[in-house]
Amino acid sequence: MSQQLIDDFGRTVDYVRISVTDRCDFRCVYCMAEEMTFLSRAEIMSIEEIELLSRAFTELGVQRIRLTGGEPLVRRGLVDRLQNIGNLPGLDELLITTNGSQLVRYGKILKDAGVTRLNVSLDSLRPERFKAMTRNGDLNKVLAGIDAAREQGFQRIKINAVVMKGSNEDEVLDLLEYARDKQVDISYIEEMPLGNIDSHNRALSFCSSDEVMAMLESRYTLHAMANKTAGPSRYFRMADSPIRVGFISPHSHNFCADCNRVRVTVEGRLLLCLGNEHSVDLLPIMRTHPGQIEPLKEAIIAAMPLKPESHHFDLHAEPQILRFMNTTGG
Ligand code: SAM
Ligand code: SF4
Repeated sequence: MSQQLIDDFGRTVDYVRISVTDRCDFRCVYCMAEEMTFLSRAEIMSIEEIELLSRAFTELGVQRIRLTGGEPLVRRGLVDRLQNIGNLPGLDELLITTNGSQLVRYGKILKDAGVTRLNVSLDSLRPERFKAMTRNGDLNKVLAGIDAAREQGFQRIKINAVVMKGSNEDEVLDLLEYARDKQVDISYIEEMPLGNIDSHNRALSFCSSDEVMAMLESRYTLHAMANKTAGPSRYFRMADSPIRVGFISPHSHNFCADCNRVRVTVEGRLLLCLGNEHSVDLLPIMRTHPGQIEPLKEAIIAAMPLKPESHHFDLHAEPQILRFMNTTGG
């Protein structure tokens, strides 16, 4: 039986999110600054290292891996070798979070490589606003990408929408209508204070999940579902549609007690918690012992006691966490 990763608070870690690149073809205002300096190739995990890391985690009992970034589909060489991760014994689900801009091109390849579920970010259905929020995204490309992915028959596709006051909070219902029409799930996300951004004041743009819920409930009745994901999302179902409506609420609903996940940054740093700097550098271990899985597994096991009981976000303070979301992986 595979070894399990259990932290000091009795939580089993069976889910890992790996950031495969810090680069992106968008510059979403809540995620990146307009001018970004990206890491060099030597500073980030190679595709082989990402594969080794994924294998180490699955051998330690991890059943779900989510690849994220940056934009995972712009990482050169990843898509071609994705099935090496998709085929790992013990892996139940390979998931990808994407901005959708390349899905027309890669949807089928992802499905064939074993990707089971896709999260696609979509904050606005208005082309001009979409361009403004992503700083250069083409809405039509993303909508075409979502349609292309739907044709591939993934188990689930979920839209992720960060809701910001003064920006897109008036589209909360339109986004739900879109999700219902396309028969895809949707999650509304509270903005997190990751990285120093200068485009807006996060304390002013903050829109709580409770406010979003109130907007949805002005038109629909939502019924809470039992939480099967042990993650930060709370899901609801609708009376007349099979889609799930989720809320990711790091501020207003502390979810740490159920946390089953860890993250690895694009630089190979194992983060035991999104909101804390508790971490272990795995890259030097992989570089000192190239291709060797045991030292890596030992380091991951040894890191478990570093997982803190909960995170601490404060919208009104300076960001305590200076990492940008794109290096951490959302
Ligand atoms: N590029 C891909 C995408 O946009 O889906 C994957 C990476 S992105 C960092 C993952 C998720 O994080 C996206 O859904 C994005 O909306 C979300 N995100 C980025 N910055 C955030 C922030 N400051 N607060 C909350 N969510 C954020
Ligand atoms: Fe790129 Fe995703 Fe960040 Fe937007 S949220 S800038 S698409 S990594």
